[in-house]
Amino acid sequence: MKKPPGAFEIRETDLLGRIGRLHTKKGTVETPAFFPVIDVYRQEVSPEDLHRAGFKQAITNAYLTLRRFGEEAAEKGIHTITGFNGVIMTDSGAYQILEYGDIGVTQEEIIEYQKRIGSDIAVILDVPTSDTKRDSVIASVEKTLQRARDALPLIKDSEQAWVLPVQGAAYQDLLEESAKRSLPLTEHYQVLGLGGLTIFMETYDYLTVARALITARRILPLGKPLHLFGAGHPLIITLAVALGADTFDSASYILYARDDRYITEYGVERLDRLEYLPCNCPICSRYTPKDLLEMGKEERTRLLALHNLHAIRKAIQRAKQAIKEGRLWELLEEIAHRHPAAYEAFQMLHDHREFIEQGSPTSKGVVRGLKLYGPESTWHPKITRYRRKIEDYLAGRRASKVKLAPYPPDPSQCQPEYNDDTILLYYVPYLGVVPAELCGVYPTIHFNYPRRRVPSLVVAEAVDYVASLVQKYYPGLQVEFEGAGGEGWPSLFNRLLRDKLKP
Ligand SMILES: [Zn+2]
Repeated sequence: MKKPPGAFEIRETDLLGRIGRLHTKKGTVETPAFFPVIDVYRQEVSPEDLHRAGFKQAITNAYLTLRRFGEEAAEKGIHTITGFNGVIMTDSGAYQILEYGDIGVTQEEIIEYQKRIGSDIAVILDVPTSDTKRDSVIASVEKTLQRARDALPLIKDSEQAWVLPVQGAAYQDLLEESAKRSLPLTEHYQVLGLGGLTIFMETYDYLTVARALITARRILPLGKPLHLFGAGHPLIITLAVALGADTFDSASYILYARDDRYITEYGVERLDRLEYLPCNCPICSRYTPKDLLEMGKEERTRLLALHNLHAIRKAIQRAKQAIKEGRLWELLEEIAHRHPAAYEAFQMLHDHREFIEQGSPTSKGVVRGLKLYGPESTWHPKITRYRRKIEDYLAGRRASKVKLAPYPPDPSQCQPEYNDDTILLYYVPYLGVVPAELCGVYPTIHFNYPRRRVPSLVVAEAVDYVASLVQKYYPGLQVEFEGAGGEGWPSLFNRLLRDKLKP
C-alpha cells in the first residue's frame, strides 16, 4: 500500500539515532539523509553530479525559484526546472526574505507556490533571526508559532510533507517553551525542523547544537522525523544523528568550494595549505592540491564541491552502519577526539545518558563486543543498561557475606556455583562488577579494553561504583577480599576498594 506523504517508519535505532524511511510523493528517502542545496542561480555542480555522488534528494529555495522562474516553475514543476529527478525539498526562503526585507511575498503565496511547483517536502514561512539577541529570538519564536498556526488550513490534505520549524534554539529556555507550544501542532505536520543553529555550527559551538537537539528530542514526538537546518559538516552531522536528527540540509559543500575550502573529517582546510588530500574519493584519488590550484576557478570549484559532498556522504553512511551495528556510541567517542568542539558536546552527554540510552539496543544480530577506551567509555549506554540490570539483581539477592575478587582474565574461570549464603562479586574496570552468577551474560564476556594500562580514572570510577553497591545492598555485612596480588589494575583496584570499604 502506498504510504501518505510524510509517513515515517523507523527501522533501526541506536542511542537517539535511527534509520528510517520517509515517504514522499516522489519516492522514499532513507534517513539519516543529507539534502544538498541546489542553487537556482548558479549550478557549478550539476544534478547528475549530485546523483553520481549518491544523493537521491536535494533541497532548493522556493522564494529564489519564484524570483528566478516565476510561473514557469509552476508549469514545468520543480523537478524539471532544477533538472534533479529525485526527492526535492523546498525551503520557503525565509532567510532571503529576512535579508532583502519584506518584498511582498506572503506566507499564503509561498505555501501555494510550493504546492504548485510540486515540492515533495516543503517548509512554511517561518521567521528566523539574523542574530542571536534574546529579543530577536523571542520574536522569532512568537512569529513562527503564529505562522505555523496560520498555515494549518493551507497545508491540509496537500501532497507535500510539511515541515514545522521550531525556533528559539539559541536559548535553552526559549527552545523548551517553543517546543512545548509547538507540540499541539505536530500532529498536523509530517516533519519537525530545528532552526536557528547555523551560526553555532559555523562557529563550532557544537555544545549548543547538541543541547538544543536533546531538548527538542525530549519534548517533541520521537515518531516524527527531525530536520536540522543548515548542518553541513561531517562532525556535526554524526553528532546530530546520534541525538535524533534525521535529515539535514546545507549549501556548505558549494560555499566552501567557492572559497577554496576543503571539508575534512576533523574540520575545514584551505586548499592552499594542504600538501596532500586526506581522502579516497574519486577527486582526491586523482588530483593533488597543486593540480586543483592550477585549474580554472570553475573546474576547481566543481571538483572541490564534489569532494565536499563525498565527505558529507561518508559521515552519513558511517553513522548508518554504526546504527545498524549498535556502535553509535563508539563512533561518537571516536569523533569526539577529532575536534575540541565535538569533545565538549560529547562530554555533555554524560548528563543525559539515561535518556540517550533508551534507543540503544541490548545487542544486535551478531553479538559485537564493546570497545572501551577512556573514562567516557563507562558512560556507554550498554554499560548504563548493564549496571541497571546488576542493581536489579543485587536488590533481590540476599547474602550474609560478601566476597570481592578481581574478574578473571578468562571469564570461564568464574565460580558461578558459589554458595547461597555468600555473594561473590568480581570487580572489573568499566563494567564495575560482575556477580559470579551472572558471568557470561551480555556484555560480561563481550568487552575489550586495554588491559595492561587501564586509565586510573576508569579504575577510580569503578571502585566508587562497586563500593556504593556493597554499601547500598549489603550494608554492615562482612566483606572478604581474595586474590589480587601482582601488577596492573587488579592490585590498584583491590587497594582502593579496601580503603573505601574500611569499617
Ligand atoms: Zn575527496
